[in-house]
Amino acid sequence: MRLPLDERDIRHTVTALIDGAPVRGGGIEIPVFYPATGNRVATLVEDDAADIDRAVAAARRAFDHGPWPHLSVEERQEYLCRFSEVIEQNIPLLAGLECLDTGKPIHDLLTRYLKRTAYCFRFFADYIGQSSGTVYDQVKGFRTVVAREPVGVAALLAPWNSPISLGAMKVAAALAFGNTCVLKPSEQTPMALVRLVELLHEAGLPEGAVNVVNGRGPVTGAALVAHQGVDLVSFTGGTETGRSIMAAAARNLVPCMTELGGKSANIVFASANLDDALDGALLAIYTNAGQQCLAGSRILVERPVFDDFVARFAERAERIRVGDPTDEATEMGPLATEAHMNHVLSYAELAREEGGRLVTGGLRDESLGSGYFVRPTAVVAPSNETRVAQEEIFGPFATFLPFEGVDEAAAIANGTDFGLMSYVWSDHLPTVNAVVPRLRSGGVMVNATMMRDLRAPFGGFKDSGVGREGGEASERFYTQEKFVSTRMVPGPLRRLGTV
Ligand code: NAD
Repeated sequence: MRLPLDERDIRHTVTALIDGAPVRGGGIEIPVFYPATGNRVATLVEDDAADIDRAVAAARRAFDHGPWPHLSVEERQEYLCRFSEVIEQNIPLLAGLECLDTGKPIHDLLTRYLKRTAYCFRFFADYIGQSSGTVYDQVKGFRTVVAREPVGVAALLAPWNSPISLGAMKVAAALAFGNTCVLKPSEQTPMALVRLVELLHEAGLPEGAVNVVNGRGPVTGAALVAHQGVDLVSFTGGTETGRSIMAAAARNLVPCMTELGGKSANIVFASANLDDALDGALLAIYTNAGQQCLAGSRILVERPVFDDFVARFAERAERIRVGDPTDEATEMGPLATEAHMNHVLSYAELAREEGGRLVTGGLRDESLGSGYFVRPTAVVAPSNETRVAQEEIFGPFATFLPFEGVDEAAAIANGTDFGLMSYVWSDHLPTVNAVVPRLRSGGVMVNATMMRDLRAPFGGFKDSGVGREGGEASERFYTQEKFVSTRMVPGPLRRLGTV
């Protein structure tokens, strides 16, 4: 299979999009590479502080004077449904661009990621149709109505591991609740997201409601987050970046939501359906080549079944079809960049130095040419204190640890600075019920994996972030409350100055 797009669908120069029009920024040119070959596919023009000013000013005009915040809910729903349709109609185009950006298998993009992106707009259209304010009428003679209003101009920063799903989720939520925004995709993966925003404009999005700026994090991203015209910041990315972004938002006293890294424990009890647990463990670490915040990257297996589970896992990992993302049969594509590939591979060496046992992988797949392909990797670590058990590797790299019983499982699972997700595999209900409440993570999946219900609040405990995304959680973040108290019954007020 080839990529489902024409050569003319590819913009070889990627620029900012301000008020719906392309704008060439004043910064340097940055190459964008196709991870499956290492070939340069586009050039990104970086936006500097003056470009950020223009983009924020456009979003501000659209918020203060444009129609978007003042549309009725029905009108906004119509727009969001139209955006969902336009994404559905352009799934091949967007999937092709996202494949060029990230090297994700095209089959996954066509059948899952892009459908999900379209659904996200429909989800928020439905959500706003059902949400309403609150009335307090307990105080006699008064009625207090609490309404939620849009906050203003949102700065939205997206990472490279799932650019279109994660970026579009932020755009859909910001728009649904009446905000305007400036989106900054990752400089490594800008093409599909920029094209998506162009499509929204072609579908009637008012000028300035969504603007895009491009460039490196410490340059363009930092200028955007620090801009005084920004009213709220939503960030998905690495934990260290998250710290500096929260600090910048704090200086401007604007709300900031951060979805950060993870080192999630996938806990397999001997009482599990071990066939399911094996399928789930493989999916949780090798989907998207492990470049997922919620990857089940620490696999904790109860001692009586440990050796057998690890052996079966390795045997299956070795049979995963790694290769050309445009081949429909490919199950795992390359890593996103050469630097990231080298970073992931360095942990195989580290595992050995730390006394770990490399069970499988740990190598670049040289048979696949110059692409950034890494064989599915698994190590058994000597303890949870090792770096391979503690650091987010963000690649197809599973770290196995044995445990005995619920107490030790919970202690190891919680023995990390992160707290995004946990997975529990057991068919013994008392075991599940004993361990789940003890897990310090924003989500727990029981006998399940890769499940994200958009209604549920998604986010992390500890260093995995602050705040949540999802139906009601997004509403709380992208709106601010205003109360209006009305005296319902005319009557004498307490009077001053009458004696
Ligand atoms: P990153 O932190 O390097 O970059 C994320 C975005 O922030 C990019 O657009 C980048 O250009 C920008 N950025 C970088 N430095 C900046 C700065 N100083 N100021 C402002 N903006 C800056 O993250 P990444 O490498 O693109 O993504 C991988 C990370 O994202 C992993 O740690 C992963 O766990 C995390 N992630 C978290 C979630 C979640 O929902 N919790 C989802 C996906 C990815």
